[in-house]
Amino acid sequence: MSATKIEWTDAVWNPVTGCDPVSAGCNNCYARRMATRLAGRYGYPKRHPFDVTVHPERLAEPLHWRKPRRVFVCSMGCESGPRRRPCNLDWVRSIRDQCQASGVPLFVKQLDIGGKVVKELDQFPEDFRIREVPR
Ligand code: SF4
Repeated sequence: MSATKIEWTDAVWNPVTGCDPVSAGCNNCYARRMATRLAGRYGYPKRHPFDVTVHPERLAEPLHWRKPRRVFVCSMGCESGPRRRPCNLDWVRSIRDQCQASGVPLFVKQLDIGGKVVKELDQFPEDFRIREVPR
């Protein structure tokens, strides 16, 4: 977890970094620019710093947080492109249930449903139509 200057969050947590650009909108990708700048440091591969990279050593970091905080998860990438890993909706359900049990707001931005990236809320299964924000 790292402190951040992003005004709407307290910290960023990046257990996965990198992405496969998916559209012309990606030409101005902040995360790609930053990863390129940090190539060879902070876990960004030297040769291809924006390749999707899992950082297993970071996965347990939230278990050690003592104080509540707003966290931007995976601010330095995402998995929308053709090399994304399969999304098991049961994993997302488990995260949803854990957030609800803990009173943590959850914002479901996109899902992979049957191998297709879906971003439109009305196309989500009803139990995933959740777009909460911290107060
Ligand atoms: S994170 Fe990925 S999908 Fe998002 S703008 Fe950057 S390259 Fe595009």
